[in-house]
Amino acid sequence: MTSYWLSEPAPPRREVRVDDPEVVVVGAGVTGCAAALRLAEAGKRVRLYDGRAVAEGASGRNGGFALRGMPAAFDVTAESVGEETARAMMVWTERAIDTIESLAGDSFRRVGSLRLAVDEEERDELRTEYEALVAAGFAAAWIESFEPPLEGRFAAALRHPPDGVLQPARWVRRLAALAAEAGVELREHSRVASLEELGGATVVVCTDGYPSGLLGEIEGLIIPTRGQVIATEPVPERFFEVPHYGRHGFDYWHQTEDGRIVAGGFRDVSFDTEFTADEHLTDPVQNALHRFVNDLMGRELRVDYAWAGIFGMVMDFLPVVGRVPELDDVWVAGGYSGHGNVLGFACGELVAAALLGKDVPLMAQFDPVRLLNIG
Ligand SMILES: Cc1cc2nc3c(=O)[nH]c(=O)nc-3n(C[C@H](O)[C@H](O)[C@H](O)COP(=O)(O)OP(=O)(O)OC[C@H]3O[C@@H](n4cnc5c(N)ncnc54)[C@H](O)[C@@H]3O)c2cc1C
Repeated sequence: MTSYWLSEPAPPRREVRVDDPEVVVVGAGVTGCAAALRLAEAGKRVRLYDGRAVAEGASGRNGGFALRGMPAAFDVTAESVGEETARAMMVWTERAIDTIESLAGDSFRRVGSLRLAVDEEERDELRTEYEALVAAGFAAAWIESFEPPLEGRFAAALRHPPDGVLQPARWVRRLAALAAEAGVELREHSRVASLEELGGATVVVCTDGYPSGLLGEIEGLIIPTRGQVIATEPVPERFFEVPHYGRHGFDYWHQTEDGRIVAGGFRDVSFDTEFTADEHLTDPVQNALHRFVNDLMGRELRVDYAWAGIFGMVMDFLPVVGRVPELDDVWVAGGYSGHGNVLGFACGELVAAALLGKDVPLMAQFDPVRLLNIG
């Protein structure tokens, strides 16, 4: 049950105390750390709480893919929000990757990503997205021939050159250290049980799929969803430098710098059981992941790490950022539908900008009120 990423020791961090905070951020993952950092840089007195330690939620348990865009494909997003808005969202997330690269040091590698089609139907979908990306002026490449071990398995692939791969726990711990340097007090292992205990400060809830109990009417509408991951023994040959994902993102894998195959997904072998906030591993998903990796590599690999984490699913595949309906001075940023490494960072910055009174036009699309309508 240990995340490979979190097994690396956390580096020391500056100890800060903030009396009488103006803003309390709940959740010390990528979103909360980014929001707290930007608010403190702007001169706010900020305290950041987490029931666990920094990055011990999904931010230290994920696949490590740093992907541009929204959770849905670019053309699908354009259909739902309009071409111009979808384009603005894409540019915004590409800039967020640039910022991540400038802050993340050795926890980020800009290697691109490879979105694979397992059959002709998925190939057609990817081709439509590829054409929409190119027409809108975004970098993208179309691939139809593969080297082993991908050869013969996939119909085509769409390469996203601006993407990259993270050691996500190392990255978010680094972000927390930057926040502390900027003056944020971090209170780890301190679960916030109610808004009343926060003494009237502005509250920003950054808990994505983990039920916080702080979101009033919209509590539960960012649906807790379990993702499971394995990391194998190190493999000497290098096959998967780039994050790979196929079957609409239900399978994803890449190779760490020390050669391990990190693979996640296969929620669809047991859909109903995976809509949960329980981090236990299950045999059907774990066995499917192990079988998949062994089949891909053509030999039996030992699993050294296996873990689960919870992400927040939203039925329209757009994040949820803004004021929480019916609550006084409570804000939320979350609901990335399994796509939160870049979006979480960008939405943490976005909610901070809104709190600082800046003009943030994209937020209209992310308004939490809409959850009351889509259920
Ligand atoms: C298995 C898995 C694989 C994934 N793979 C990818 C991927 O490859 N690429 C990608 O982009 N995204 C991926 N995601 C999604 C991504 O990890 C998340 O969307 C992102 O990390 C969310 O960050 P966050 O800071 O918003 O929330 P989290 O990192 O989940 O942090 C929320 C924190 O809130 C705390 N909390 C909750 N309630 C309270 C309370 N009342 N008081 C105090 N603390 C509280 C929790 O302890 C937790 O630490 C994956 C997610 C999972 C689970």
